[in-house]
Amino acid sequence: MRTPLIAGNWKLFKTIDEATGMVKELKTLVAATAGVEIVVAPVFTALSRVADSLTGSNIRLAAQDCFWEEEGAYTGEVAPKLLVDAGCSHVIIGHSERRQYFGETDETVNKKAKAAISAGLTAIVCVGETLAEREADRTFTVIETQLKGGLAGFSADQLAKSVIAYEPVWAIGTGKTASDAQAQEVHAFIRSLLVNLFGQSAAEAMRILYGGSVKPDNVKGLMSQNDIDGALVGGASLKADSFAAIANFAS
Ligand code: PEP
Repeated sequence: MRTPLIAGNWKLFKTIDEATGMVKELKTLVAATAGVEIVVAPVFTALSRVADSLTGSNIRLAAQDCFWEEEGAYTGEVAPKLLVDAGCSHVIIGHSERRQYFGETDETVNKKAKAAISAGLTAIVCVGETLAEREADRTFTVIETQLKGGLAGFSADQLAKSVIAYEPVWAIGTGKTASDAQAQEVHAFIRSLLVNLFGQSAAEAMRILYGGSVKPDNVKGLMSQNDIDGALVGGASLKADSFAAIANFAS
């Protein structure tokens, strides 16, 4: 059985006070939530203070990106071991906004994911097609290229420390969610690729999250699909009540 994972990507929102304030509310709202892994991903500057606020709770901490080197003359970058130092257990890698605005490629995703895992983090590796790619019937080709590139050279152990997030770019922040069937179709395709690359049991154990305008009112339908094992949530993760409602999808 795969433990569902609900992750909130706060993007470039929230000061330290806003982030710790929301965590305070969220902790109460999900205190009784069992059998679901809950993760929040604030901006870098809030990580350490949010980590303190999360102490003793069932919510874990993610960063939104990392670099692949441990240290050196890399102005502006943050190494995976520093994220561990700040209290992170997870890191999001290859989000479509990083691919779109900051030149992230499958190769850099791969280097970041490997570095993150060797530092002890769980890597949440994002893949997803644009609207133009979907309309050109290229969804499966794009996902296959991103997945194979992002996970290139992974050992079984590295795979076990990763999570895939399928986020159709046309559904991110647009209010347009993939239908349950559209999402399931791609998730099943991703799992079949994982079977080919890593074998049946590794693929069965792998969590594949859906992301793209997940809200309290559509999460249940998505989570009822066979190959959807959680959600990466942007907009609806910014308020404690809506994110808690998503995390509590089973109740
Ligand atoms: C995201 O940023 O990963 C995301 C899915 O955003 P939203 O839920 O707002 O579409």
